[in-house]
Amino acid sequence: MAQLSLAEKLTILADAAKYDASCASSGAKRRNSRDGKGIGSTTGNGICHAYAPDGRCISLLKILLTNSCIFDCHYCINRSSSNVRRARFTVDEVVDLTLDFYRRNYIEGLFLSSGIINTPNYTMEQIVRVAKTLREDHDFRGYIHLKTIPDAAADLVTQAGLYADRVSINVELPTVGGLRRLAPEKSEVRIEGAMAKMRSAIEDGKDARKRYRSAPHFAPAGQSTQMIIGADAATDQDIVSRAAALYERFDLRRVYYSAFSPIPDASAVLPLKRPPLMREHRLYQSDWMIRFYNFAPHEVSAAADPATGMLPLDIDPKLAWALKFREHFPMDVNRASKNMLLRIPGLGVKAVDAILAARRWQKLRLDDIGRLTVSVRKIRPFIIAADWTPVVLADQANLLPMLRDKPVQLELFAS
Ligand code: SF4
Repeated sequence: MAQLSLAEKLTILADAAKYDASCASSGAKRRNSRDGKGIGSTTGNGICHAYAPDGRCISLLKILLTNSCIFDCHYCINRSSSNVRRARFTVDEVVDLTLDFYRRNYIEGLFLSSGIINTPNYTMEQIVRVAKTLREDHDFRGYIHLKTIPDAAADLVTQAGLYADRVSINVELPTVGGLRRLAPEKSEVRIEGAMAKMRSAIEDGKDARKRYRSAPHFAPAGQSTQMIIGADAATDQDIVSRAAALYERFDLRRVYYSAFSPIPDASAVLPLKRPPLMREHRLYQSDWMIRFYNFAPHEVSAAADPATGMLPLDIDPKLAWALKFREHFPMDVNRASKNMLLRIPGLGVKAVDAILAARRWQKLRLDDIGRLTVSVRKIRPFIIAADWTPVVLADQANLLPMLRDKPVQLELFAS
């Protein structure tokens, strides 16, 4: 590898990391340096994070340790057969960069991933060393998210949780068939085995904290994973049920969906075009339905087109579900259970909680609901209030123009 300056390495390795979507920092443990000791903080509202126009988190120093990799996953720009410029940081370089950026207020923490160097164990050791050095030698109290290497020894993978706020292990593709075809060196069994071990290590850590206040926090922001969307033939229904199974089995904090983006010098087995970014957005909304609105995965799947298995792109899946199962509507906001209120398109968790609190004292009228939502116009067909009873839900054709979001001009220069 040619000698590169630190700045050149940073350019290459930050660019190579941009394909990884799973770096949001919500759920970080509160940690600060107001006592005059240590460096950094995750206090107050937790870590601030910004999102690029395409939805990706940009507030962490997000880099790879190296973009060289012994594996050859077809969808990855860093695969061994790719013709990209390679670079590699040393552990000390990553530590110094993180501290330097932190002191200058550029970042709130570090997201570190890596191609596989030599062996999975060696790579995992290097990743863990970065976090260990930051925490133990520099008393770094910012946020750390480590991407683990599932093929590495279990004790190395779990060591990551001792130093990181969040760890992630990517399942990569929604189906086993897709993984075999596009990442033949990866194994679903190894990936899920690593996730299962991480889950039990996180649970043991929580248990230890309950018994002994002095027990260390272990991956307090939990574990997450990422799926690439649109690189294989998986339908939205496949993706929703896979994500639901992952939440259930591994107690994940988040599943991230990353629309496949065609890479330079792409393998011939990949589609030529990226899927619409809106598909990624609809999948995040479907994820939200399961995590916050108490929909069962099969109910979310029922919102998809039965012929194609795909969620509609023009309306959000909660609205699609309501239009399909209109026998549940209109719903009386003064009587319906919390679970049912959460199914009203356009009502979020906060608004539902506010409705439940307010209706203890008074019968809610349409205006009251209007004050709690962004657009009462869109909700009106689905609710009954003290002074409002809509006619039976009209045909979808008549309703849709009223319920659709107005088209938004996208930024011309968004990447
Ligand atoms: S193991 Fe990771 S870095 Fe290596 S080719 Fe596969 S996806 Fe890319």
